[in-house]
Formats: sequence, structure tokens, C-alpha cells
Amino acid sequence: MVATAGAPLIGVLALQGGFAAHARVLRELGAEVREVRTPADLGGPPALDGLVLPGGESTTMTLGIEREGLAEPLRAFAASGAPVFGTCAGLIMLDRAHLGVMDTVARRNAFGRQVHSFEADLDFPDLEGPPVRAVFIRAPWIDEAGPEVEILAEVDGHPVAARQGELFVLSFHPELSDDRRLHAAFVERVRRRLEHRDAA
Ligand code: GLN
Repeated sequence: MVATAGAPLIGVLALQGGFAAHARVLRELGAEVREVRTPADLGGPPALDGLVLPGGESTTMTLGIEREGLAEPLRAFAASGAPVFGTCAGLIMLDRAHLGVMDTVARRNAFGRQVHSFEADLDFPDLEGPPVRAVFIRAPWIDEAGPEVEILAEVDGHPVAARQGELFVLSFHPELSDDRRLHAAFVERVRRRLEHRDAA
């Protein structure tokens, strides 16, 4: 008999930025959510099955991570192989110059400071249906990516979505549109990993 895993427990880094909207979307998709502000929130028990790093302001987020002593625990969490989803400032936090978890270099405010926000239609491999309408707000892009990084979408030739193992990053804000497919893909990844673990 195949055991069915319960609802996955997903953490959302809640020091600053758009964490509440991510939490809402994840709950809509059937996940349980824990806001993460301290190493204890990240570590559990119960342990988190996945983690979202939201958009916001990466300098403020960096200061918050340092203040709370979260840098090492965040690195260890990613190194454990649990799925991590970084959007906008979250993409920046994961790069070589910040937490050093992903083999990427992000360029902050890459589309120009004057370009506060814009939307673009993006085609994602493995995503059924129409293109994703992506909302960019003072968005970064990925300037450099190592060989293990798979680029999933670009704007004007600049990578704005990528995957490296269980790390999944977007330059834009999927939590600000009604399209749930990218969050759903992340939650599905978390569920699949849980099922494997429970079956082991
Ligand atoms: N420009 C922000 C930064 O550098 C990121 C923008 C966002 O998360 N919407 O931190």
C-alpha cells in the first residue's frame, strides 16, 4: 500500500517584504505555512518541507538575516536538499554574493532604476497552458550562472527564471497575479520529495 503524505509544511521567510501574499497562495494550494523569523522557526520541530524567500528589499533582508543569525541555518536548509523557492529579492539572497547557495550572480534593479515595474508574458518549459503573465518590480536578472543552473525564461536575453537542483528562482512576483501554476509546481516538488521520503 502506498501511504499518502499529509499536507506539506512550507516556511516563508517573514523578516520583510511580500511574505503574506506567498503564505496565502501556498495555503490556497493545500500547504501548511510557517512564517520564519528565527533559526527555531526554520529548524522546527516539526521540520519544514520547503521554504520560500519572498521579494522585498535585499539589503534590508540581508540585515535581518544577520541580526537573527539566520544565514548559516538557511544555508544548511538549502544544503539538505529541501526545495527552496526565491522570488525577486529572494533570487538575490540565494546568489553567490549573498547566501551563496545558488551558483548565480544576480544584478539588482537590472532593468534600470527608472523602470519601477512592468509585465511580460513568459513561456516556461513543462508548464501547460498559456504563457505566464509576470509582474516585475525593480527586478533583478541573473548575470552569471554556473553549469548546474538551468535557465527557464528570459526577458530581452536576460535570465529571469532558473532552477538548480531543488532551488527555483524567479525575478518577478508570481504571488501578485492570479496564475498559481508556478507556486503549484513548487508545492508539487515539495510533495513529491515527501512521498519519496515516506516511501523510503
Ligand atoms: N530591487 C529589490 C532589491 O534589490 C528587489 C525587488 C523586489 O523584490 N521586488 O532588493
